Amino acid sequence: MKIYNTLTRNIDEFKSNSEGIVKMYTCGPTVYHYAHIGNLRSYVMEDVLEKSLMYLGYKVDRVMNITDVGHLTSDADAGEDKMVKGAKREGKTVLEIAKYYTDCFFEDFKKLNIKKPETVVPATSLIPEYIHMITVLLEKGYAYIAGGNVYFDTSKLDEYYKLTNHTVDDLKEAVREDVEVDENKKNKNDFVLWFTKSKFEEQQLKWDSPWGVGYPGWHIECSNIALKYLGEYLDIHCGGVDNIFPHHTNEIAQTESYTGHKWCNYWFHVEHLNNKTGKMSKSTGEFLTLSVLENKGYNPLAYRLFLLGSHYRKVLLFSYEDMDSAENTYNKLKNKVLNLKKDGEVSNTSKYQEEFKKAIDNDLNTASMLTVLYDVLKADDLNDASKLYLVEDFDKVLSLDLTKEDKKEIDSDLEKYILEKIEERKNAKANKDFALADSIREELLSKGIILKDSREGTTYEIGK
Ligand code: AMP
Ligand code: ZN
Repeated sequence: MKIYNTLTRNIDEFKSNSEGIVKMYTCGPTVYHYAHIGNLRSYVMEDVLEKSLMYLGYKVDRVMNITDVGHLTSDADAGEDKMVKGAKREGKTVLEIAKYYTDCFFEDFKKLNIKKPETVVPATSLIPEYIHMITVLLEKGYAYIAGGNVYFDTSKLDEYYKLTNHTVDDLKEAVREDVEVDENKKNKNDFVLWFTKSKFEEQQLKWDSPWGVGYPGWHIECSNIALKYLGEYLDIHCGGVDNIFPHHTNEIAQTESYTGHKWCNYWFHVEHLNNKTGKMSKSTGEFLTLSVLENKGYNPLAYRLFLLGSHYRKVLLFSYEDMDSAENTYNKLKNKVLNLKKDGEVSNTSKYQEEFKKAIDNDLNTASMLTVLYDVLKADDLNDASKLYLVEDFDKVLSLDLTKEDKKEIDSDLEKYILEKIEERKNAKANKDFALADSIREELLSKGIILKDSREGTTYEIGK
């Protein structure tokens, strides 16, 4: 499989450290609020990556953190802890909001058919490990204490910027939108490993440490969670592009200084989903969650289809017009698949599976994967049974539930309306008025109602 690697700035052939096994780490959410649909773009694409690797025959060991402490409102260690901010906003404790938003996050995973990683670890669960790593970094001379905090000394590394391909000056403004300068830092991009500063008195969760009562910096959690659950050699590390600097850069600095060797071979970054006003955000503009889309009547899997239509390395612009068209395409696609007959011999499938693998191989080209799916549905050299077989096979990666018949409780008025329409369509067909029959099918489809014709008559399905 060929995949773009942020570290080499190249599309590289993927090769795991151990034959047949991939050790994959994904940065998880900061659980102070709902995930917005931009965050979910990153998680959908990481899901496609994991499932693609599995499709190619790898076993994937995947680990994700849950940030419930240490991530400040500025990525550059300034402002207040996002969790404390969220708790204040809602008049709850940090642990209460962490639990609530973690549950919501995984509800979104279910709705979008994102596989939950086998190992999910909250940042607050590994404090002794962070203290150990910081102690070692201090001993080795990579860290220093100033004003009560412990900092990583970025000047100690020749290759601190290797992931970003930037110089210190390029990055001067990048993460400094709202920031007061921290006079304790020896170098501009030094970062906090452990906070004890009194200005964070409001911090609800604090632990004892050799440097005083305090709490860990943001980056240290991912280094330690990855080391503990995946060992010292990682195959692939994922996140959104905003994680490249400073978060992933700092993860590399700490981990490699601690272990003394290279940590991770491939870095996978998903570009942002933007809305008309620019970058999607939890604090400004319309806060677009999956529930907002659902309340407007969209199927979460239509959102997944919308995301699959674009390459993960391109900025994607969100609009309701595009969501309408994704919803429409999704219903049509499902309609086609549910109308395939199950009987018959499966044959001729390998050429399409090869095409699908080629799309994966081409830097995870999800749009090409969808093209292969459409080609299958149109193909003359495939019977229905073979088409169904392939749709099911591709859905291991696409996860659009295309073959799943959704049984949903519906109210009796809607049922009556649908049955009347089915009858009207039957009469139209009997009168050879196929245009009317088709328009009735389309009308129902636009409402997410899929008709299935068989010898026994017409039945219906309702999309989610
Ligand atoms: P957070 O909960 O803020 O820590 O972010 C969770 C994940 O979403 C991280 O991997 C971010 O890089 C990613 N992310 C943040 N904003 C966007 C966006 N607009 N589009 C895609 N991914 C994003
Ligand atoms: Zn991380």
